[in-house]
Amino acid sequence: MLINLTDVFTSEGKVKNISARYDQESFRYMGNDYPVSDKSDVSLTLTNIGTGCVLVEGKLELTLTIPCDRCLQSVNVPLSVAFTHQVLSPDREDAASKEISNDASFDDEQNFVSGYELDTDALINNEILINMPVKVLCREDCKGICPVCGHNLNEGECGCDRFVPDPRMAAIKDIFNANKEV
Ligand SMILES: [Zn+2]
Ligand SMILES: [Zn+2]
Repeated sequence: MLINLTDVFTSEGKVKNISARYDQESFRYMGNDYPVSDKSDVSLTLTNIGTGCVLVEGKLELTLTIPCDRCLQSVNVPLSVAFTHQVLSPDREDAASKEISNDASFDDEQNFVSGYELDTDALINNEILINMPVKVLCREDCKGICPVCGHNLNEGECGCDRFVPDPRMAAIKDIFNANKEV
């Protein structure tokens, strides 16, 4: 959703509360698309903190469907996203970037602002990226899938022999078996 910030940029002290929507059906991460299975509205507060300068605060709850790292079953992963950014109007950008280039909060890659418009989807995509879990498991003790037949081991044993013998042990076993045959 695009929100025009012109009036907040130009009205000293103005505060605007907006309920926006996150319009993405899925979230693309490292080449995979994860469905957004649930999401709240985005509550946004836009505050003029000086001419041409707006503080953008907001939050959103959403649920992504991500496969378990071990067994690939779908897992609903709830994420709480909260953010605060300072946005400069294009009229101020040049002057201000010289003035405050040492201020880290202005060094954000603001790919979510174009001209006077705030792109809430782009902003939220950045925030989800920061909040993506490193590891997703359907449960702490997920047993994963059988490397031999692909059976989900959480649903019980498949009966495959998954014992990978030490090659040196295998050699001894061969000798043992050969002797037994004699
Ligand atoms: Zn699992
Ligand atoms: Zn198996």
